[in-house]
Amino acid sequence: MLFGQLLLGSKPVLAQNALDSILPVRGFAIAAPSPSYLDSFVTFIEKELAPRQVNTLILRVDYNYQYKTHPELRDSIALSSADVKKIVSSCRANKIRLIPQINLLGHQSWASRTGNLLLKYPGFDETPEVKMPETYKWPNADSLYCKSYCPLHPQVHEIVFALVDEICDVFETDAFHAGMDEVFYIGSDKCPRCKGKDKAKLFADEVTRIRDHLAVSKRELWIWGDRLLDGEATGIGMWEASLNNTHRAIDMIPKDVFICDWHYERSDKTAVYFAMKGFNVVTCPWRNPSHAVSQMQDMVAFRYESSKVMKPRFKGMVQTVWSGPPPFVNGFYQNAKDPKTGENTAWHCFRQLFDAINKISK
Ligand SMILES: [Zn+2]
Repeated sequence: MLFGQLLLGSKPVLAQNALDSILPVRGFAIAAPSPSYLDSFVTFIEKELAPRQVNTLILRVDYNYQYKTHPELRDSIALSSADVKKIVSSCRANKIRLIPQINLLGHQSWASRTGNLLLKYPGFDETPEVKMPETYKWPNADSLYCKSYCPLHPQVHEIVFALVDEICDVFETDAFHAGMDEVFYIGSDKCPRCKGKDKAKLFADEVTRIRDHLAVSKRELWIWGDRLLDGEATGIGMWEASLNNTHRAIDMIPKDVFICDWHYERSDKTAVYFAMKGFNVVTCPWRNPSHAVSQMQDMVAFRYESSKVMKPRFKGMVQTVWSGPPPFVNGFYQNAKDPKTGENTAWHCFRQLFDAINKISK
């Protein structure tokens, strides 16, 4: 680092380097913009993300891209390659690592809407007997949160990996986020391929398969961490951890899978668990600013107080946003309160988290 400082010299660079050593990943995760919002989103990257020293941008693309390998899976309005290149060049100019996401395995439907993969390839559905409701309600008799694809279907990977490769190429990235959170439908008793199989093994095998595919092109796999935590033993429950017997997968997947450990209710100390198991981990808040700041302080402390071996695994923080860019950006500029949660919003959280992050480098 000293050599780098001598070369680069100026004060802001020193501050940046100091922050890089305290909290190497300073991320932001949001849905990719629609084509009509693209320019506004690029402006947001340049005016708000870059000055706050955000250096990682995870974009949920899913089917919002004009795939050439599988045009049948495109959303009716979707980003073109030229659109994506605008994001790529803005991120490159601002030294932001860009990581595209396609939800694999779980999240193949949302509320009463089936996602494009299962719409076009209904044979991949892990639970075809579960019909999509006209009006979605949770809880429901089918325990339907989101549909999953069957990880043992013999044709599913040929198709999803074509999308993964295409999106990674156009985003010019060395990492891909596969989602894989909240997978409730896995190893269904009615699936002829999966029934009776160990759900932890099914989950781990799918993670490993995706990881191995990416490794061929030297790309890193990022996933959400919830399925790897024991929801019962920790009391964290079925959302931010697993109550469907997937948690033992933590000991079955390659250690180079990068874990995004999301917690929205408390500053649970699960990053330590992932790091002790050998994984790189970031902590991901959503809309509670005070939890987010304490999660960030925890992350800095874990990194500082750990052994030489564990220290580098505590990578940093990723602010998560569960809307598209327009509601977030509008809320952010209007400093809007939520009718239900007041100042507990993703934009208040983002602002306060990154204010706190930028203070630690001063
Ligand atoms: Zn299956």
